[in-house]
Amino acid sequence: MIPFLNLKKINEPYESEIKDVFSKFLDTGWYVLGKQVEEFENAFAKYCGSNNCIGVANGLDALEIILKSYDFPPYSEIIVPSNTYIASILSISNAGLKPVFVEPEIRSYNIDPVRIEEKITENTKAILVVHLYGRACEMDEINAIAKKNNLKVIEDAAQAHGSVYGGSLAGTLGDAAAFSFYPTKNLGAMGDAGAVLTSDKLIAEKVKLHRNYGSKVKYQNEVKGRNSRLDELQAAILNVKLRYLDNDNLIRRTIAKSYLSNITNPMVIMPLDDRVNEDSWHLFVVRVQDRERFRSFLSENGIGTDIHYPIAPHKQLAYSELSKTSFPISEQIHKEVVSLPLNTALTETEINHIINIVNLYK
Ligand SMILES: *Cc1c(COP(=O)(O)O)cnc(C)c1O
Repeated sequence: MIPFLNLKKINEPYESEIKDVFSKFLDTGWYVLGKQVEEFENAFAKYCGSNNCIGVANGLDALEIILKSYDFPPYSEIIVPSNTYIASILSISNAGLKPVFVEPEIRSYNIDPVRIEEKITENTKAILVVHLYGRACEMDEINAIAKKNNLKVIEDAAQAHGSVYGGSLAGTLGDAAAFSFYPTKNLGAMGDAGAVLTSDKLIAEKVKLHRNYGSKVKYQNEVKGRNSRLDELQAAILNVKLRYLDNDNLIRRTIAKSYLSNITNPMVIMPLDDRVNEDSWHLFVVRVQDRERFRSFLSENGIGTDIHYPIAPHKQLAYSELSKTSFPISEQIHKEVVSLPLNTALTETEINHIINIVNLYK
């Protein structure tokens, strides 16, 4: 069986280095927000080409804290793709703001720039873009719209570590960006972790306050913050794995290229191949009409798949107030997508088996 994801196997190449940093971590007796976190913040900022990185507890917090740090008036409208992981939407609700959905382009799965302006009102404050599956959004168009309408651009880069657009990395393509280092991400910790990147020094300071009870000086609280600190152990693991991110992404791109040039089944709609060397290929997502039959066929042939994601955010029980709204493109995507295994643990034999089996589906 080729599992969709085997985290143990994915982390195996780093195990001996991680054991080393773990024993050093034990020796220090310092567990939260320390030297490892600082080292990681500096290294990740440098890697992405940003001036400021602030480590936080997870990706959802990173998004929420960014939104809080801008101090938008309550219920301000935030433009967000209707086709995304629920965290992007929850961050807006949790920050006391209003998500305004914009449909994606069916081919890229990312927010359609052409549909953004019709949703802008005098209450709109920001566009929250999501680089879904590791493909950067059309940032030139989006930034132009934001500039014209005086809006902030916030990136949900949780799937886009090392993803490139116009020569710059995800995380530096807007005003502020949120990363997740959940274990399954391209750069994954061994627990929860996240970070905010921003070129805006004032926002960076605000984010730092918010992650630590609104406090810079111990027991002095400047804003109503929260506890979203990053711990030393996760940061130490990320410091090891960051050094291999480019190589890991190279492996992902090689697998993506292999799928793109060798899967030729007309029943399977492939992802766009115009930015093979720039996308981070967090997920390799195809579309098929009868998804369950396709998944069963793959499963019978020893291939695990997953779905990202089965229910559109506006169809979730948590957003029952939106149950009467209609976003047909998102609904179609959520009905048809299937993710094929694409990760650094796959062998050449496994990759070829996946290609052969997908081509045999009829
Ligand atoms: C993983 C993910 C998040 C949330 O990250 P957590 O660390 O799980 O909170 C947000 N947005 C997207 C697109 C994600 O894939």
